[in-house]
Amino acid sequence: MATETIFSKIIRKELPSDMLYQDDLVTAFRDINPALPTHILIVPNEHIPTSSDVTDAHEAAMGRMHTVARKLAEEEGIAKDGYRLIINCGEHGRQEVMHIHMHLLGGSDVGPMIVRKKPA
Ligand code: AMP
Repeated sequence: MATETIFSKIIRKELPSDMLYQDDLVTAFRDINPALPTHILIVPNEHIPTSSDVTDAHEAAMGRMHTVARKLAEEEGIAKDGYRLIINCGEHGRQEVMHIHMHLLGGSDVGPMIVRKKPA
């Protein structure tokens, strides 16, 4: 089994967090270093390291992450103006914590989707 991360301890409430939501499949808490006024992480309770590790068995949790994101966006008051959902994967995706997580970002314009590199 892949090594757990700090997120498993947050899910089990062994470490403090600003937790906004938890059910049988997913947990949501505020990012410790927010990039925008609203920056929430939504994670499966099960330790799934990256998007590359997602299987058919995880479809319920992956779907729940999205419906919880929608509900939290409404609660945060950012649904009308819009927001961005991001899942980084692996080294090129700049994933830092190896427990799959969805970033819910909003509260102001999030900027361009990616910084386009100039052709070499
Ligand atoms: P990523 O680069 O997609 O892996 O994003 C990891 C995110 O986790 C970053 O935005 C961090 O600020 C956030 N993070 C790391 N440790 C914690 C923590 N203890 N509580 C909340 N957010 C955290």
